[in-house]
Amino acid sequence: MALTAHRWLMTAPKAPMVQSGFDPLPLAAGEVAVRVAGCGVCHTDLGYFYDGVRLNHPLPLALGHEVAGRVVAAGAGAESWTGRTVIVPAVIPCGECEPCRRGRPNICRRQQMPGNDIQGGFASHVVVPARGLCPVDEARLARAGLSLAEVSVVADALTTPYQAVVRAGVAPGSLAIVVGAGGVGGYCVQVANACGAKVVAIDVDADKLATIGKHGAALTLNARELGGKALKDAIGEFAKQHGLPATEWIIFECSGTAAGQLTAYGLLVHGATLSVVGFTMDKVELRLSNLMAFDARAIGNWGCPPELYPAALDLVLAGAVQIKPFVETHPLADINRVFEAVHRRDIKRRAVLVP
Ligand SMILES: [Zn+2]
Ligand SMILES: [Zn+2]
Repeated sequence: MALTAHRWLMTAPKAPMVQSGFDPLPLAAGEVAVRVAGCGVCHTDLGYFYDGVRLNHPLPLALGHEVAGRVVAAGAGAESWTGRTVIVPAVIPCGECEPCRRGRPNICRRQQMPGNDIQGGFASHVVVPARGLCPVDEARLARAGLSLAEVSVVADALTTPYQAVVRAGVAPGSLAIVVGAGGVGGYCVQVANACGAKVVAIDVDADKLATIGKHGAALTLNARELGGKALKDAIGEFAKQHGLPATEWIIFECSGTAAGQLTAYGLLVHGATLSVVGFTMDKVELRLSNLMAFDARAIGNWGCPPELYPAALDLVLAGAVQIKPFVETHPLADINRVFEAVHRRDIKRRAVLVP
């Protein structure tokens, strides 16, 4: 038996990706072939393609780690997944090593990320381990007015900030600050809000701020208009007015820019948590001792444990987190044009490529 499938291969940085046929079969034990319904274009994909961020798998490689689709074939032991609609975790831990067994799957050294360690989702089909797949209830999906392609963003853009919010300990009454309110940051705002925090969103883009002001941000601030000190004063004033704490702010850096990182770091208060969610190759100059002086902490976030996916998806299906206003679909065949448009920031919403 053979499956007709194709994927779009990156052959060299910045070189147009090329379509190439392949046969996903036969599958190894524990693997499934997922017919891709949609795969989101992430900032990280642009990093690999434009900025020389190192890939673990040699080129040529199909990028794409934000996949939703339907299981169309299964290897030994994974047969129960056949026919089911699923979200593929962006990072799939091995589930067996010592950190995995200790509940630290984010640092599993045998983890597999589609479009980095293995062939990714800018394809008609992707072959992944069945372990960690998140089932999607098609009836609830339809009731929520969402397509399977649209919920592909749960695989990374939503679950990464979801795990950051959980790990940072956001609770009712928290003051959460999200720097970078587009894409991942927009979901961070919504998730923190759904977890009971009052959320301040900071960006340099007035349109993004206007949108997120309607979706969970209680205060929006433009870092183009306010310097670091003025931003901190404005948030302090907001906290006072709303009976929120002057200490223990929870700050999420989601912009993945040097400027955003400096803004986030400048907002440290006593007992603050700085959660680094965005990625950039750029460096910043900081006084690290501020962490010491404020008894604050900074934490990184790599991916999201598969165990948290169902709860994150549930927020979407229950309507507590909106994805429709933040997603647009494009044909996979337009991948090179879409990458350029996202890179130039002509496309501001999450672009999902549909085979
Ligand atoms: Zn990503
Ligand atoms: Zn492991």
